[in-house]
Amino acid sequence: MSTYAVVDPATGQTIKEFAALTDAELEAKISRADEVHRTWGRTSTPAERAALLGRVAELYAERRDELARIISREMGKPVDQAGLEVDYVSAIYDYYGRNAEKFLADEPIDLEWGEGTAVVRRSSLGVLLGVMPWNYPYYQVARFAGPNLMAGNTVLLKHAAQCPESSAAMEQIFLDAGFPAGAFENLYATYAQVDGLIADPRVQGVSVTGSEKVGAHIAQAAGRHLKKVVLELGGADPFIVLSSDDLDATVEAALTVRFFDNAGQMCCGAKRFIVIDSLYDAFLEKMTANLSELRPGDPMAEGTALGPLSSVGAAEFLEDQVSRAVEGGAKVALGGTREGAAYCPTILVDIDPANEAAAEEFFGPVANLYRVASEEEAIALANSSPFGLGSYVFTTDAAQAERVADALEAGMVFVNIVGADEPALPFGGTKRSGFGRELGKYGVDEFVNRKLIRIGG
Ligand code: NAP
Repeated sequence: MSTYAVVDPATGQTIKEFAALTDAELEAKISRADEVHRTWGRTSTPAERAALLGRVAELYAERRDELARIISREMGKPVDQAGLEVDYVSAIYDYYGRNAEKFLADEPIDLEWGEGTAVVRRSSLGVLLGVMPWNYPYYQVARFAGPNLMAGNTVLLKHAAQCPESSAAMEQIFLDAGFPAGAFENLYATYAQVDGLIADPRVQGVSVTGSEKVGAHIAQAAGRHLKKVVLELGGADPFIVLSSDDLDATVEAALTVRFFDNAGQMCCGAKRFIVIDSLYDAFLEKMTANLSELRPGDPMAEGTALGPLSSVGAAEFLEDQVSRAVEGGAKVALGGTREGAAYCPTILVDIDPANEAAAEEFFGPVANLYRVASEEEAIALANSSPFGLGSYVFTTDAAQAERVADALEAGMVFVNIVGADEPALPFGGTKRSGFGRELGKYGVDEFVNRKLIRIGG
């Protein structure tokens, strides 16, 4: 484990360190979360919890600028984008507040045999552990905490070691909104303590957003202790272009989901651009022209479109991936250079589908372009990835859009649109991108007891 610390992503200089929890402090926090679930979690009504979530949404909005600056400092996200993240998080808490009673309403079942009634009633499970990454420090947590606090579960958060201030700020918001102390606990926990939490009988489930390696480790521990686990892992989302009546707009959409959101450090960012032969040259030319002047800037300055990566180590890792892809035959059409944590926008072309490095997840501003001759070839290439998180399809043919959306091995397909997330939409993947869902009805249902109550006539 790394030390919990705020480290300037650009220079690697440590700004502030935070002490890890002692085992005694951790025990006090688990026991409080468990007690709060048994009392508040079980006795508060959905309407009461909804009101608290509504207040959380207001506090995010009120503290927008301060919260934005915290994450820009922690992980280098340009402050404008950080503000937009805070807005979205506020909308998530607001949505789960406004819809709590609807999501948690009894669900009647039409009986075919016998007299009486049957309903499924949703109730909380207990204490849940969330292990979360640094790339969207507030949003990743909101996807887990919003629906689960709505259901009356209590939440323990082990955030990334580089997010100690944002995780503390989130805990403070829950307290200031009126949640009981213990409903949401921020833990500066070690990996060994996380293992201990998964084994603890008071912890009922675990949700992990992060890399495959951590997902596999935690799922294995959860399996050993028969704990439910949700895994939101990496992705190498395809962006398939089959036809377009406005190629400039299609390229702009591509740039948004690869370069202009979080410097490409987005699990469901488009990473592989699969373009039909007739549009490929124009697509590459427009993408290159749009990026040729773009250089990473100061994340704390307003107007910065592309910041540094989250650390010098992350940029070095990306540089190594690009080198390995090039050794495997790929060509650099643009960029490919690094200065500290700043990685220049990069386009790789002529990638052999057998090039293993190119099939990896590139967590940064690198677009991999592929030329294909047909819809079938595009689908086959898209599905050749071990990942199956999101995907994007651009076509002017509605029937083709339906066919391709149906054929893609992905948890999410966006047709002719990017940046279309909203609090109501379920989020999650297939294959090595994990399993389970966050948000929407499906996310709410992950950690509730869907209890059957059958009453005789
Ligand atoms: P990571 O290394 O897997 O870290 C994620 C979290 O796991 C951090 O809190 C980390 O803590 C913790 N962790 C690491 N090893 C652990 C262990 N042995 N026991 C307990 N906790 C442990 O992921 P990352 O590199 O920060 O994030 C990038 C990855 O996350 C990418 O693959 C990305 O695609 C994926 N991601 C997926 C989604 C999604 O929704 N599907 C969303 C965002 C990101 P420390 O910081 O202390 O190491």
